[in-house]
Amino acid sequence: MTAFTGEFWRGDSTGFAAAATSRLFNHRRPAARPRAVLRAAHAADVAAGVKLAAAEGLQVAVRSGGHSWPAWSLREDTLLIDLARFTGMSHEPGSGIVAVGPAVRGGLDLDPYLAGHQRFFPVGHSPTVGMGGFLLQGGIGWNCRGWGWAAESVESMEVVTAAGERVRCSETENADLFWAARGSGPGFFGVVTEFRLRTRPRFRALTRSTYVYPAELAPEVLSWYLAARSEVPPTVELAAVGCTPPGSDTPVLIIDGLTFDGGPASLAALGTCPVVGKALASSVAQPVDFADLQAEQLRANPEGHRYFADNAFLTGAPSQLLPALIPAFTPLPTDRTFTVLGDFTPLLSRPRPEMALSVQTDLYFAAYVIGASAGDDARCRSWLDGVMDRVAPHSAGCYLGDSDLAVRPDRIMSAAAWSKFQQIAAIRDPDGRFPGYLGTPLQ
Ligand SMILES: Cc1cc2nc3c(=O)[nH]c(=O)nc-3n(C[C@H](O)[C@H](O)[C@H](O)COP(=O)(O)OP(=O)(O)OC[C@H]3O[C@@H](n4cnc5c(N)ncnc54)[C@H](O)[C@@H]3O)c2cc1C
Repeated sequence: MTAFTGEFWRGDSTGFAAAATSRLFNHRRPAARPRAVLRAAHAADVAAGVKLAAAEGLQVAVRSGGHSWPAWSLREDTLLIDLARFTGMSHEPGSGIVAVGPAVRGGLDLDPYLAGHQRFFPVGHSPTVGMGGFLLQGGIGWNCRGWGWAAESVESMEVVTAAGERVRCSETENADLFWAARGSGPGFFGVVTEFRLRTRPRFRALTRSTYVYPAELAPEVLSWYLAARSEVPPTVELAAVGCTPPGSDTPVLIIDGLTFDGGPASLAALGTCPVVGKALASSVAQPVDFADLQAEQLRANPEGHRYFADNAFLTGAPSQLLPALIPAFTPLPTDRTFTVLGDFTPLLSRPRPEMALSVQTDLYFAAYVIGASAGDDARCRSWLDGVMDRVAPHSAGCYLGDSDLAVRPDRIMSAAAWSKFQQIAAIRDPDGRFPGYLGTPLQ
């Protein structure tokens, strides 16, 4: 019997059911359950867990922050290695590198820690997202458009391999693992026990403009958005958001621009919409606190709800995109649901490192459908399916973080990257110890 420092539950032991599901953000959960759960205390536990799984003929599922929308960490015939206790953070003042455990929550834990050192890392917008899944998928963090994928700022990682060995990987050590870990997300064939991240100096000022339009103006506003976005500098994170404001039952369309040290002039193009005079409200080039932005994200993604999400990197002329996009913004199926058309992905002109993440365009669409009870599920699913049926013909691929490949397969890597990924997987995980994607990515 393997001795672990952390906690271990078999399927028939008290506490197993809670250990298997209690840290999952989405309350809409698949029926799959692991055979056993290891809440590891340290990397040696993780290595012992991988070896135990091999001895018992099980695969290995992993959970860091528990925020994947489809609950990827719930898989049949697995040992689930839960990294909840991997919450360490350590900043090296000389290099600006911060070492983080994979269960560190980007906004709630890492950002305040780095603020104390006057440093910043582009964590996920929603403060509760775990660093593990976020970084492995690439990571659309704050100002991704200007600063790039969060994974670009990973200097190195500690990984437990499918053979149960503890290795470091970076561009110069175990470079194949490092390449695969930056973008393969839940398809990765190892357990990352620590990330070392390059931080940047903390921003000095955040400035934001918002214009709130009636949702029925979506044709005019989205048409303008698709043309005007090229006029907005890369220091601005720009989005069109369809949502229902708290306390209202009428959806609106919000044009939102946020700049990190870009200053008010960088937001000027947001005021050029031809129907700007019909805006219900506006707030132009106002200072905003990062804490307020994070609180807004927490309100938009409430705990205890049932989520359906999907997305696409869009390609095509505005005249083709508009008829597909407009129905995604109104009407919305529930009062919590929101849709986003965003300039969230790195500028295509930016140089970027070689990594598995290899599909993107410069225009991102995502829908987050939020129900309160199981009774909402069929309506939510059907609305999202309808939206994605119209949007999918204009998709060049999808971002793993907001995807559900079991429902709608899409491309997640270029053909060359996918082939390289499979070759590395065959060498690093010849026995298929890690279960891979839930659903098959398109090629
Ligand atoms: C409310 C909310 C807001 C979000 N906002 C953003 C956002 O702003 N930007 C963005 O990019 N994404 C966002 N996402 C998507 C999110 O990044 C992904 O769902 C991500 O997988 C969550 O990581 P996690 O560690 O919390 O999740 P988990 O469910 O714990 O991990 C997902 C899967 O990733 C793999 N994995 C995780 N950690 C490890 C590890 N240490 N080693 C090996 N494999 C591992 C496993 O296969 C695991 O099942 C959001 C999700 C939610 C629910």
